[in-house]
Amino acid sequence: MTDYRRLRVALLGAGAVGSQVASLLLRHADELADRAGASLELAGIAVRDVNAPREVDLPRELFTTDAEALIVGADIVIELMGGIDPAREYVLQAINSGADVVTANKALLATHGAEIFEAADQVGAQVYYEAAAAGAIPIIRPLRDSLAGDRVQRIMGIVNGTTNYILDRMDTEGAEFEDVLAQAQALGYAEADPTADVEGYDAAQKAAILASLAFHTAVPLDAVHREGITGIDKAMIDAARHAGYVVKLLAVCERLPAESEGGESISVRVYPALVDRAHPLASVHGANNAVFVQAEAAGNLMFYGAGAGGVQTASAVLGDVVSAARRHVAGGVGVAESTRANLPVSPIGRVTTRYQITLEVDDRPGVLATVAGTLSEGRVSIATVEQTVVGEHTPTEGDPTESSPRARLVIGTHKAREQDLSETVDRLAASGVVERVVSVLRVEGD
Ligand code: NAP
Repeated sequence: MTDYRRLRVALLGAGAVGSQVASLLLRHADELADRAGASLELAGIAVRDVNAPREVDLPRELFTTDAEALIVGADIVIELMGGIDPAREYVLQAINSGADVVTANKALLATHGAEIFEAADQVGAQVYYEAAAAGAIPIIRPLRDSLAGDRVQRIMGIVNGTTNYILDRMDTEGAEFEDVLAQAQALGYAEADPTADVEGYDAAQKAAILASLAFHTAVPLDAVHREGITGIDKAMIDAARHAGYVVKLLAVCERLPAESEGGESISVRVYPALVDRAHPLASVHGANNAVFVQAEAAGNLMFYGAGAGGVQTASAVLGDVVSAARRHVAGGVGVAESTRANLPVSPIGRVTTRYQITLEVDDRPGVLATVAGTLSEGRVSIATVEQTVVGEHTPTEGDPTESSPRARLVIGTHKAREQDLSETVDRLAASGVVERVVSVLRVEGD
């Protein structure tokens, strides 16, 4: 056996991901040494409770509750604890003591990434985070390295497995949101408190990470426009299917052209959107993730696979560990995060997409003309209109107007500016001819 240089690896956390990383590091030690050119010695595993049951059998003597002591003297620190504190302190301690850091912690990077990368840059250390966006799917390295010579124009990602699972079952089985969510919780696909997933917070963190890399710009989390899927009901999914679309929660990171008042900017947003059924993202089913990248020279690329799962995510973490080990063997300082472009992040109002607007209106002469006129005045151009009779308005105490037939208008627009669109929809709602704005959904993917 080759007599490799030994590198000390400190592991922080032995939960769903950490326990699998430890197990693979121990089981595949020889293979990993050959690939890394160094022997990866697991020096210890920091946890909260050394006696807690683990998903895999790991040597008891490796466990400690003293993370700080474990970090001292480590060459590579793998942070898989999650959360902000104390993960942030430990990561900074590791960097400042000269270790490279591997982390899967999207929450930490989306909120304190700038501080962490700056600290690493100061000492020439490297931070690896392939598992922080889209789990096992290699997307960080392609954006950072493979596409470093290209210009990314747009990323559209299904980066949250829980919401994709829910929307997919609503689409394929005609199920209601609440029922699928309850089943997803029972199966362990959704947390007991599903807010981070269904309200789009998790996807927003990943969007901030992907956009920062793709556009060489530090994108703060609060610059990401975020909407979740709790407002999506079965009727919207059915209407989408009828129109040839599927509803997906998308993280969209896009380069916006220069406007008269300023230069180029970017948009980073998370919302449920209609995707044409012929688009590759429409066929991402279940809890899978996919990231669709459009680059100036490379064209369209799609990265697809498991966005979560302990052992799947461990694959991405170990890839980073091998990269870190190779860097240690080669020597030299780490490559700083590239934030040279520093493009401004535009507000959602500046974004231009197509929309599908669903309105409930009185079915009487002149209504369609009023709706069309209001849209045109608001610089929203109509591409398609479909009208169906949906029933009768019956007078009530609150709404004593005469009984009249009701119609549903589904209006597909050409590309319109978000600000124009939302102001126009407000005007439609107040126009007196629109009974109810049923939904307004963006159409993405063209
Ligand atoms: P997890 O199952 O909750 O495990 C967390 C581990 O960290 C546990 O072993 C826990 O110790 C330890 N820990 C927590 N706080 C600690 C502290 N203050 N001091 C020492 N140890 C502490 O988490 P996970 O699912 O493995 O996720 C780890 C990271 O990977 C997170 O950043 C997550 O966002 C990311 N990630 C996870 C997945 C996934 O599928 N699970 C996918 C992609 C990315 P005890 O065991 O003693 O409680």
